[in-house]
Amino acid sequence: MADTQIPLEVRNIKKRFGDTEVLKGLSLKANKGDVITLIGASGSGKSTFLRCMNLLEQPDEGDLIVHGEEIRFKQTRHGREPADWKQVVSMRAKLSMVFQSFNLWAHMTLLENIIEAPVHVLGKPKKEAVEQARALLERVGLTARADAYPAQMSGGQQQRGAIARALAMDPEVMLFDEPTSALDPELVGDVLKVMRDLAEEGRTMVVVTHEMGFARDVSSQVVYLHQGVIEEAGAPQDVLVHPSSPRLQQFLAPKY
Ligand code: ADP
Ligand code: MG
Repeated sequence: MADTQIPLEVRNIKKRFGDTEVLKGLSLKANKGDVITLIGASGSGKSTFLRCMNLLEQPDEGDLIVHGEEIRFKQTRHGREPADWKQVVSMRAKLSMVFQSFNLWAHMTLLENIIEAPVHVLGKPKKEAVEQARALLERVGLTARADAYPAQMSGGQQQRGAIARALAMDPEVMLFDEPTSALDPELVGDVLKVMRDLAEEGRTMVVVTHEMGFARDVSSQVVYLHQGVIEEAGAPQDVLVHPSSPRLQQFLAPKY
């Protein structure tokens, strides 16, 4: 019997691009309120793993269980595909993704960006969606920017706006792919602050990050990927402070 208390579980995910197997059987379980951080060198498979979790990439093998519901797949000439795209759409509404390149829609104001999916995917009345959006904007410190277009906002503001947009779907799990990597250093803190607040209020999150301070303070579990394999995983105190894998020790060693 599937456990509906578990927001996200992936089992033995494998993914290849051409002849290269980039994910070699990865499993992960996010219980309610968990913050799982994925760390690892560039090219180790972090983004691909995250994208497999909401099927932006199709895993070749493995299971995906969202809030107790197992995603069904079928084999086609082109490989494995979801058997029912409607199931994928409703599953994606439970897993919001925030990307490195704060991808707000350029032709919409910030407020319009935030209400778009609640109105058109969830069928929320517009007035209600606008009220909710204003409350979210206040939470991420962007009350004054509701009517700005993305191009008129700093990268940090756009990313906080993207987080507000993700929150507007009230997702079970939030997926973040290096949300601060494209930001000027002085803008990183504001975005991390918003993410720390989300962690504190008990949001379930999976976060790809190079921010080791954030990973150490906020994670319930840190997962270190190396060439598509989980090389080490556990509590931040163990993985980040007392790593046992020599590779991870080297990865964490100060660069200068
Ligand atoms: P990370 O996010 O850890 O830097 P990625 O998941 O982006 O790593 O990439 C893992 C590996 O998969 C890399 O070798 C990358 O070149 C390869 N890869 C990622 N996406 C594709 C794709 N769409 N087609 C071919 N190879 C890809
Ligand atoms: Mg990546």
